[in-house]
Amino acid sequence: MTIEWTPLIWNYCPNCSFKLIEAHDGQSIRPHCPDCNKYYYYNPVPAACCFLTNENDELLMVQRSVEPRKGLWTMPGGFVESGETTEEAALRELEEETGLRGTGLRLLGTSTRASKISGGVIVIAYAVESWEGEMEAKTDAMDLGFFSRDKRPDIAFEVHEELIQTYDNLRLDGQI
Ligand SMILES: [Zn+2]
Repeated sequence: MTIEWTPLIWNYCPNCSFKLIEAHDGQSIRPHCPDCNKYYYYNPVPAACCFLTNENDELLMVQRSVEPRKGLWTMPGGFVESGETTEEAALRELEEETGLRGTGLRLLGTSTRASKISGGVIVIAYAVESWEGEMEAKTDAMDLGFFSRDKRPDIAFEVHEELIQTYDNLRLDGQI
């Protein structure tokens, strides 16, 4: 699919605060700091999310308590922090939002979309094999719930819709 990107506009060098210019790095025109002699690259931001099911084969989802898309539902997850792996990010976000500690991750797939906040986002989805802990909505979650396939709530982000589709397809194929 084609994604319509809206580039972020960067005006100043985050290192030295010199005004950035546009310059050709040999491949493309990029923001460039003449003072640091450094090009800046505009890339999508990585995020990770978790797919967890209960004994009734219902998926765990999180209701957002913050904008954007406050009140709509997502898979538990969030942005990858510097210094952690995507697996660590998925499990950290799971525990932060739901109180559950997961183990045994399996890569399900990825989804890439334009994002107003970061320009673009790549979400990496993992199936969580087992989990423990007391379920409680925390940080940017106002509610949590396990949903069967025919009773899922309105999903906040296209990336998660696409990943849920991936999950359902793998499930129908008997691959997970
Ligand atoms: Zn600079």
